[in-house]
Amino acid sequence: MTTYTLPDLPYDPAALEPHLSARILELHHDKHHQSYVDGANATLDKLAAARTAGDFGSLVGLEKTLAFNVAGHVLHSTYWTNMSPDGGGEPTGDLASAIDEYFGGLDGFRMQMTAATVSVQGSGWSAMVWEPLSGRLVVEQIEDHHNHVAVGSSPLLVIDAWEHAYYLQYENRRADYVAAFWNIVDWNDVAKRFADARN
Ligand code: MN
Repeated sequence: MTTYTLPDLPYDPAALEPHLSARILELHHDKHHQSYVDGANATLDKLAAARTAGDFGSLVGLEKTLAFNVAGHVLHSTYWTNMSPDGGGEPTGDLASAIDEYFGGLDGFRMQMTAATVSVQGSGWSAMVWEPLSGRLVVEQIEDHHNHVAVGSSPLLVIDAWEHAYYLQYENRRADYVAAFWNIVDWNDVAKRFADARN
């Protein structure tokens, strides 16, 4: 039976400094992301127990908890690889062309994605996704991990707007955290995800 596991960080926790501190990365990956992995596995076990018992009285809550934890696992796994100590700069090739086509250029895209991150109410994310039905890129503003997500969309580039992602270093200045993120964004990873999603 497949269960969810925490992926290793693809770099040393200090590798993204000064843009993101090692302490944030350690806590965020080792504690927060781990809790979503554990929560997803525990919820699958509870669903199995409910089926065995034939008792679905807790099903609504379990389904909500499953979505929260699995989406949290997917988003964090994407987020780590969306960043790199060699990141920054601008996208190239097909990804750059698609951003031009669907957002009118990199500046417009970055402004929308930044605004989507900064204006999340409560805890959430921004995500540039591939929407397969229309075959286009769109920006989603996600609440928690799983609300306001278009079914079938594939996350290509995500920014965590939960306070645990930045507060130790940036305190209430979420906009400064997002500005720093653009210095470590790994456009090569985004381009690879874009190619995979279209295929
Ligand atoms: Mn997080």
